Amino acid sequence: MKRLVSILAALALAIAGAAHAQTFLTIGTGGVTGVYYPVGGATARIVNEAGVGLRLTVESTGGSVFNVSAIRGGQLDLALAQSDVAYQAFNGEAAFDGDPYDGLRVIMGLHPEPMHLVCQNDAGVEGFRDIAGKRVSIGNPGSGILNTVQAMLEAYGMSESDFTPEYLRAAEAPDFLRDGRIDCFFYTVGIGGAAIRDITATADVSLVPLADPELETMIEEFPFYAFATVPAGTYGGQDEDLTLFGVKALFVSSTDLSEDNAYAIVKAVLDNLEAFQAIHPALANLTAEDFLSGLGAPLHAGAERAFSEAGLY
Ligand code: GLU
Repeated sequence: MKRLVSILAALALAIAGAAHAQTFLTIGTGGVTGVYYPVGGATARIVNEAGVGLRLTVESTGGSVFNVSAIRGGQLDLALAQSDVAYQAFNGEAAFDGDPYDGLRVIMGLHPEPMHLVCQNDAGVEGFRDIAGKRVSIGNPGSGILNTVQAMLEAYGMSESDFTPEYLRAAEAPDFLRDGRIDCFFYTVGIGGAAIRDITATADVSLVPLADPELETMIEEFPFYAFATVPAGTYGGQDEDLTLFGVKALFVSSTDLSEDNAYAIVKAVLDNLEAFQAIHPALANLTAEDFLSGLGAPLHAGAERAFSEAGLY
């Protein structure tokens, strides 16, 4: 009996020790009607269930620029972020002008994030330039949306003084559009994002094509921009394939994330690829190429190890 008690005590100690060995990491995502939030949540579940001593939790945030800054400040361990924002942070450009963050690392590349420009059908906006004179939401400060729209404005030789800008959060912009308080809103988000699906299915609004030569020039200049095709029928009233300029989503951290932890996260995702791809339609067609191209910042050494082991890198 005494022996049993001491075995049980040893077992209890071992379990307590194991629980102690858990590392808690927080993932910054985006608004709850976006794609980052469900993708972050499901990634957390896959990694937590892999039993590798990691406990990931998700936070809704203002978006990419906030996320990268919070990783830098140590308030977040991991985050989803746009490829253009990662590039600019790493190189000290745009929102990070003159203040490069060389500790930023990419864990893996994810889904394309086309720029969705959604306008009232009677606003007469058929292309980017037509936003001139309109009331348009270009994203909250801290979002990747605002960052990308500002780069697009520059490419068209336009500025925020050419229209009436609003800086709404992605979760609130659709209601403003529905109520006629704005003519259009921009949202850089994965294909099939809930916010865009809902508003296009229930209001007299449409997506505006974004494939002008000005945007082609941006893509030629910077590898983290790309065109994406939104298949016909993805959104309400969208009968044809639609080409949209945009960026891609990345899973990022800082060099402070240990090599073993970065390795464990990527390995858990690769080992459960089917479950991962089933999380959201935006991830359904991810290829090995998507994980590793157009990253904008260096790959984390632990991620590199996991991708090499899987024969992908
Ligand atoms: N790309 C958006 C941003 O960085 C967020 C998209 C999402 O939440 O899915 O602001």
